[in-house]
Amino acid sequence: GARIGILGGGQLGRMLSVAASRLGFVTHIFEPGPNPPAGQVADRVTTAAYDDADALKAFAESVDVITYEFENIPTEALDMLEAHRPIRPGREALSVSQDRLTEKTFLQGLGLKTAPFADITDMDSLNAAIEQIGTPAILKTRRFGYDGKGQARLRTPEDAKTALADMAGAPAILEGFVDFTHEVSIIAARGVDGQVACFDPGENVHRDGILHTTTVPARLRPAQRTDAVLLAANILNALDYVGVMGVELFVTPAGLIVNEIAPRVHNSGHWTQNGCAVDQFEQHIRAVTGWPLGDGQRHSDVVMQNLIGADMDRVPELAQERDVALHLYGKAEVKAGRKMGHFNRISR
Ligand code: ATP
Ligand code: MG
Ligand code: MG
Repeated sequence: GARIGILGGGQLGRMLSVAASRLGFVTHIFEPGPNPPAGQVADRVTTAAYDDADALKAFAESVDVITYEFENIPTEALDMLEAHRPIRPGREALSVSQDRLTEKTFLQGLGLKTAPFADITDMDSLNAAIEQIGTPAILKTRRFGYDGKGQARLRTPEDAKTALADMAGAPAILEGFVDFTHEVSIIAARGVDGQVACFDPGENVHRDGILHTTTVPARLRPAQRTDAVLLAANILNALDYVGVMGVELFVTPAGLIVNEIAPRVHNSGHWTQNGCAVDQFEQHIRAVTGWPLGDGQRHSDVVMQNLIGADMDRVPELAQERDVALHLYGKAEVKAGRKMGHFNRISR
């Protein structure tokens, strides 16, 4: 069996490790922080910083292929790792998705619809963008945002100054507010040979900027579902992508609008653990090791719900429900806003 290196020791790295060991692979986690959730299940953990050249080299040489659970890996670290072992998904997917400006530019280049957007560097460019795009709008940092962090909403042009102050000098983009009816995502995979398989689109509800539930099947007409599959395959092919990707979409009367892409397994794909024979984590491991992909077929309807912070108090009660599968991440400390686990409620 191959040895798989995983950059990042959070819950996604943990669930990737579990899936990999089920297939007989050995996993090695690279994570700067102490006591990573993935460290409890992986075969090996390296605790080192992303600028530690010796640690990166030793990590790369200990595995056959390198993958990751988050997209903000420093470029210099990737250069060092790639000198020794293949990184899957590849560098182009990472560079495109690390920055909302390059991401949206890339998506538009494929002919896909995005929210109207503009590069913001200062008050002048923000005022010009508001002139062009209008309000309501959302100002977002170009890099490092997740769970709705690094965003400021502009109800009216008068909100410009405080919104820009919220960015704290970080490069940003302004996005026109999309008047969507609901949000869906599609989890897609592409193999080394170019084979593509998609899971059924899920419908996502956010609370306080954090994913709350994913419901499968999503409310989509057959033509919209086809559109979601085709656009995901289009994105994967354009990047010569290998692995699982999450594509977040807004559903509007005028069609599907791409919000963002994540070059990794995705929270909105956790339902596949109890809805499909091959879940997104196994699918990703299959893709990066050159195995054939699962076909993505759903055997059950599922509602996935995240357990955030004090939601963990619900675990004893949830553990008694017969249609509920619990997935807990082994995080020692409960904190407000921290993803502690999730559960999948199977309905058919
Ligand atoms: P994630 O945790 O999914 O990576 P994020 O911090 O990258 O989130 P986005 O996905 O860009 O943030 O935005 C979070 C949520 O805010 C979206 O799911 C959507 O509900 C809302 N939102 C973002 N951009 C827009 C927009 N242009 N128009 C309307 N709503 C938006
Ligand atoms: Mg995001
Ligand atoms: Mg998002």
